[in-house]
Amino acid sequence: MSQIMQDDKTYIANTYARFPVVLKSGKGSLCTDENGKEYIDLGTGIAVNIFGFADPGWTAAVTAQLQTLQHASNLYYTAPDTALAKLLCGKTGMKKVFFSNSGAEANECAIKAARKYAATKKGADTYKIVTLENSFHGRTLTTLAATGQEVFHKDFTPLTPGFLCTPANDLEAVKELTQTEKIAAVMIECVQGEGGVTALEPTFVKGLAKLCADEDILLICDEVQCGNGRSGALYAYMNYEITPDIVSTAKGLGGGLPLGATLLGEKVKDVFVSGDHGSTFGGNPVCCAGAVEILSRIDDALLGEVREKSRHIISELTGAEGVKGVTGMGLMLGVETEKPASEVIAACMERGVLVLKAKNKVRLLPALNIPPELLQKAINVLKEACK
Ligand SMILES: *Cc1c(COP(=O)(O)O)cnc(C)c1O
Repeated sequence: MSQIMQDDKTYIANTYARFPVVLKSGKGSLCTDENGKEYIDLGTGIAVNIFGFADPGWTAAVTAQLQTLQHASNLYYTAPDTALAKLLCGKTGMKKVFFSNSGAEANECAIKAARKYAATKKGADTYKIVTLENSFHGRTLTTLAATGQEVFHKDFTPLTPGFLCTPANDLEAVKELTQTEKIAAVMIECVQGEGGVTALEPTFVKGLAKLCADEDILLICDEVQCGNGRSGALYAYMNYEITPDIVSTAKGLGGGLPLGATLLGEKVKDVFVSGDHGSTFGGNPVCCAGAVEILSRIDDALLGEVREKSRHIISELTGAEGVKGVTGMGLMLGVETEKPASEVIAACMERGVLVLKAKNKVRLLPALNIPPELLQKAINVLKEACK
């Protein structure tokens, strides 16, 4: 074991089961470990480095801002967060943005916005939020409560009250809850990531959007993982032709720096007043300058490429030896394998390809701009590993 791995085990809290690799540097979709071994990266730091490692445009934007004004606090106006909010609203039709530093925080803000809207409009006893089984919304005590997977709750109770969980794709179950409970909002991931890389069914999502609109229940889309171009649309909800009231995002938005955003639609754009919410680092100029570069490059041409690469991966893997099936959307794909996923992942790593896991599946989250020849090389390795 290398010194870094030993020191990590000694000094870093045991919350992560790391792969036995020390990554040292990266360029585009390639990265190198401390022994000089090269890997094709199909994980992008869990959907974060959406233009790969050390993307020149992003690096230039971040570096220029870093040398100008690295932080100002939210006591003052700054240009990068304003530019990013304007861009996000322009591209989505949402009305206002709150910036934070992570996906969990983006969801916390969404939950606070929903609670305040419901309390103001329907009374303080309307605060419950419906989320789906197998969802993942973060690791804070409130976003854990929202997360529909018991394994994450164990040992951390009591969690924040007020969350109800129903099976995905079961509109009747949500309808029943709206008749028996006082519901403020429903929160979904259009493509569930940690829960196993599965896209929700269009009839469910559309039906849910209508139900929410009819009952004045807010629809929150957690786009932390499936957002920012990954699904083949700018935000995954756009594939379903719905308009959520609140969208939370993070991961890919910052392109490699911590940044969360909660997009507020027409109903909730002015729900917060001064003092209701805040974040010291939220909207950090360096993170936002990088995000402006990232977001302005997610255009129709790039999204077309994402969909094309997705079709290619699916057609290569469907029916391949040892592959049971492929789920997901865009460049967020889950591969169900005959061998245990961990075995396939280890075999890929051995052969120089980094892939991830979600539940029992091998999860692929490549850079949106991964060169087709590198992608093909990685697919070939993955197919060999599945045999
Ligand atoms: C990763 C993730 C989160 C949590 O994001 P953090 O930045 O780790 O707090 C929330 N929701 C979804 C859908 C995620 O994939």
